[in-house]
Amino acid sequence: MQILFLGPQGAGKGTQCKRLAENANLPHLSSGDLLRESLTAATKAGIEIKKFIDAGQLVPDPTLIAMFEEKLAQSGCANGFILDGFPRNLAQAASLDSLLARLDKPMSAVINLEIDDALAMERMMGRRLCSNKDCGAIYNLKFAPPTADNICDVCSSPLIQRSDDRQDACEKRLSSYHEQTEPLIDYYGAKGLLKVISADGNPETIFRMILDALKLANHVTR
Ligand code: AMP
Repeated sequence: MQILFLGPQGAGKGTQCKRLAENANLPHLSSGDLLRESLTAATKAGIEIKKFIDAGQLVPDPTLIAMFEEKLAQSGCANGFILDGFPRNLAQAASLDSLLARLDKPMSAVINLEIDDALAMERMMGRRLCSNKDCGAIYNLKFAPPTADNICDVCSSPLIQRSDDRQDACEKRLSSYHEQTEPLIDYYGAKGLLKVISADGNPETIFRMILDALKLANHVTR
C-alpha cells in the first residue's frame, strides 16, 4: 500500500502518519525529517539546505527527488510506504509518478487533512519537540501541553521549538503551501485517489476517519 498525506503544516500529518505507520506496519517517510537528519553532517550541501528550511522556503526539487529515489527503492519499502511532505509541488508529483511506475508501485490513496490558516498557525507556533532524538515526542503548548513546563513527559529531556516554527517562517511556509502544494489536491483528485478529512478535531477521531477512508482495521489500541 502506497499512501500520501497532504495538508498544511499544523494539520497533524506527522502525528497521524506515525500512528498509521504503526497500525499498518509500513515505513513513514517524512521529507522534513529526512532533510533534518541529513543536516546533522555539516556538509556544504547541508548548510545550503538549512538556509532554505530556516527561511520557510522549499528546498530545490532535485535534492528531494534524489532523496526519495534512493529511499523508495530500499527493501524496507517493499510492502509500501506512507509519504509525508513529498511531493510538495506539481514537478515533484510528476517525478514521483515516474518513479512509482518504474518501481511498479502505484499510489493507493491520498489523504488530504484540511484545516484553516488560523488553526494551522496556532498549531505550528505552539509545537514543541523533545530534544532527545531517540524519544521524538511532540507536544503543543495549547492543545497537548507537557505535564511540567518545557520538560518531556516520556524521558524528562528539555523541549525545543523548531527554528522554522517561528512566526515569519510559519507565514512563509503556509503561503508556499497554498501556492505550490495545494494544486496537488486537484492533481490527485483527477486521478480518483483523494480522500478529504477534516483535521480540526480530536487526533483519535481523525485517526479513525483515516482508517475508515483506507478501509483498514485498527490494530493499535491506546
Ligand atoms: P516539514 O517538516 O514538512 O514542515 O518540512 C520542513 C521544511 O523542509 C520545509 O519548510 C521545506 O523547507 C523543507 N521541505 C520538506 N519537504 C519538502 C519538499 N517536498 N520539497 C521542498 N522542500 C521541502
